[in-house]
Amino acid sequence: MHATSLMGREISAGGSLDAEPLIGLTRAALAAQLRSLGVPERQIRMRANQLWSWLYVRGETSFAAMTDIAKDLRAEFAARFTLARPKIVTEQVSIDGTRKWLLRLDDGREIETVYIPEQDRGTLCISSQVGCTLTCSFCHTGTQRLVRNLTAGEIVGQIMLARDRLGDWPGATAEDPRGIPDTDRKITNVVLMGMGEPLYNFDNVRDACLIAADGEGLSISKRRITLSTSGVVPEIPRWGAEAGTMLAISLHGVRDELRDQLVPINKKWPLKDLLAACRAYPGLSNAKRITFEYVMLKGVNDSIADAKALVRLLAKIPAKINLIPFNPWPGAPYECSDWEQIEKFAEVVNRAGYASPVRSPRGRDIMAACGQLKSASVKQRASARAAPV
Ligand code: SAH
Ligand code: SF4
Repeated sequence: MHATSLMGREISAGGSLDAEPLIGLTRAALAAQLRSLGVPERQIRMRANQLWSWLYVRGETSFAAMTDIAKDLRAEFAARFTLARPKIVTEQVSIDGTRKWLLRLDDGREIETVYIPEQDRGTLCISSQVGCTLTCSFCHTGTQRLVRNLTAGEIVGQIMLARDRLGDWPGATAEDPRGIPDTDRKITNVVLMGMGEPLYNFDNVRDACLIAADGEGLSISKRRITLSTSGVVPEIPRWGAEAGTMLAISLHGVRDELRDQLVPINKKWPLKDLLAACRAYPGLSNAKRITFEYVMLKGVNDSIADAKALVRLLAKIPAKINLIPFNPWPGAPYECSDWEQIEKFAEVVNRAGYASPVRSPRGRDIMAACGQLKSASVKQRASARAAPV
C-alpha cells in the first residue's frame, strides 16, 4: 500500500478508520457521494468518470496516484473513502494451476474465491454470501451455519483482488505467475458459483454484476458472467430484466421427489415452475443458452433412465448440460459416480446433441472444486478450538 502526505493529510489505500468503501458503489451512488463532498454539479459526471476509470480500468489502490484529480479533492477522497480489497488469509495454487484465496472481510467473516485458468481463458468463481441459508445435501457450503449477504463492494472486491494477484491490470505483472495463462486478459469469465445463493442477495449481486460489466471499467461482458442458482424461481425473470447475465441452474435431479432431497428449495418451487421460468428467460437462443448443472452422485441420480429423463426434460429449452463429478468433502453422505457410469450417462446426453458435457474437476487438491469451499477454514477453526490454550 502506498501512503503519501498531501495537504497535511495522510493519503493511503485504506483511508481513515471510518472510511467507506468506494469499490462497489454504482455510478449513481458514486455521483451522489461526490455531490455530498461539494463537487459542483457540472463536474460530477467528469469526476465520477475519472474515479471509475482509476478504480476499474487501472486498478489503482492509492488516491495519491490519481494525478488528474486536484490534490485537495484527492485528500478529501482519501479521508472519506477506502479502496481496500478483502484481506488475503491464504492463497493456494493447485498442481493444475487453479488458485484459491481465503479472504477475510472487515467483520472478520471469511469467504473463498477461486481462479480456474485454461489455455485460452480464465474463469473467476466468486462468492455471493458468507455460507448459504439453503441446505443442499451434497454441498459443503450448505453445512455452514453462519450466513450473511456480501455487499456489492465485497463481491466486486473479489474480482479486484484476483486482478491484483494475477497481474491483470494494464502494465501489471503477477508476483507469483504459476499457472497463469499467457493471454491478454487473465480473467475472461466470471461465475457466481462460489459460496451462497446469489438470488437471495439480489440487489448487491446485481449491482456488482453491472459494475463488472461496465464497458468503461472492468469490461467483463454480461455474456461472460454466469449466475448459478439453485432455483429461486420468482427472482429469475427479475434477474433477466435487471442484470441479464448468463444463467446456470443447479438441477441435479429430474424428478421432484429426488430433487426435494438434493436441493430442498425444490419443495417450494418444483421442477415445473423452475423450467417455466427458464423457458421465459429473456434473450434465450442457441447462442445464449441456459446451463443446467448436474452433480453425479453414485447410485442416486446417475442411472441411464435419469440421463434419458434429463434429456427429455430439457428438450425445448436452449440448454447446455454440465455434468459435475461430485467433489467429496469430510463427512459427505455421497460418493462420486464411477467414471464408467459418468461416461455412459454423458453418452446419452451427447447423443441428444449436447457437446462435451462433463466438467473436469479442478483444484481438488486444494479443496477448491465446486461444493468444497470453506472446508479448509472450517477445519482450521475446529482444530484451533480443539487445541489446548
Ligand atoms: N448456490 C448456487 C451457486 C453456488 S454452488 C447454486 O447452488 O447454484 C455452484 C455449483 O456447485 C452448483 O451447481 C452446486 O450444486 C454445485 N455443487 C455444490 N456442491 C458440490 C459438490 N460437492 N460437488 C460438485 N458440485 C457441487
Ligand atoms: Fe447453497 Fe448452492 Fe450449496 Fe445449495 S448448492 S447449499 S444453494 S451454495
